[in-house]
Amino acid sequence: MKKKNKNLFIANLTNKQPTKDITLDDKKNKLPLSTSKIKRIVDIGNGVKFGEKNIPIIAGPNGVENYNLMVEVAKILVKNKIKIIRGHAYKPLTFPYRSKQYNETQNVGMDIMDDIKKSFRLKVVTEITEIQYLDRVCRTADILQIGSRNMQNLELLREVALTKKPIILKRHFGASLRDLLGAAEHILVENNNNLIFCERGVSIPHTHRDTSRFALDIQAIPALKEISNYPVISDPSHASFWAPWVPSLTLASIAAGCDGLIIEIHKNPKKSAVDPLQPLNFKQFSKLIKQSRKVSKAINRSI
Ligand code: PEP
Ligand code: MN
Repeated sequence: MKKKNKNLFIANLTNKQPTKDITLDDKKNKLPLSTSKIKRIVDIGNGVKFGEKNIPIIAGPNGVENYNLMVEVAKILVKNKIKIIRGHAYKPLTFPYRSKQYNETQNVGMDIMDDIKKSFRLKVVTEITEIQYLDRVCRTADILQIGSRNMQNLELLREVALTKKPIILKRHFGASLRDLLGAAEHILVENNNNLIFCERGVSIPHTHRDTSRFALDIQAIPALKEISNYPVISDPSHASFWAPWVPSLTLASIAAGCDGLIIEIHKNPKKSAVDPLQPLNFKQFSKLIKQSRKVSKAINRSI
């Protein structure tokens, strides 16, 4: 029998793994930083760390719609002992047409986030879409989110990396893990190790098309954690696009070993300016946090 060339695939990381699309050559020459063995913890201050036993939760509406909404959201986070609020003031959309409701709040939205951050002592995650907004976003954000659509916007990745701020890099819904690690490498090569990967659902084959827009690639969580030593978080809201499934996918992500979660919430989901089918209302969110604490405890982690 012909001897298998063991050097071809990363399968021989343990010798027992199935074939993957990342070769040993990739690991050595193309992805040396993202696949390095050094364990990375991303510390965003005030005791919030990604990549340790505790699993930080990031929650908030899709967009920073207005001040009152953000106050209501902040209150429910504090009540549930959640320390990180999300909300985008700059928002790429799948289609270019924006209704009045869909308008980005931009600088005004960032000022609202600044106020909320100070009043409620929360950490802030917000999306950076263009280099021109970097200064304003950096003044308020504790973590910069690179959205799926910008995963391979290499110039943006470089400039964001140079700020040295923690970065959430979302996997594009059509990107392989190899592509994602390649994008990460563009950040790491600029000496910014404050990197957090985010699985947010991938485009799905016709067999699943009736069920949702994307499907959470739950397997990507252990796979990424095996290949890389950076924290991996999960976004069940964007993956399913459908609030009733968010609790199951959240609990499944915790069980799969995620190091954090992004959950979309809204005071009145039906009125959400963007993607009104996906946010949880406050009651559903509080219930989910209780369940999540139980599941995390079962695997010797905490929330
Ligand atoms: C978001 O977090 O609001 C978002 C747009 O996510 P994604 O880039 O994953 O679609
Ligand atoms: Mn969104």
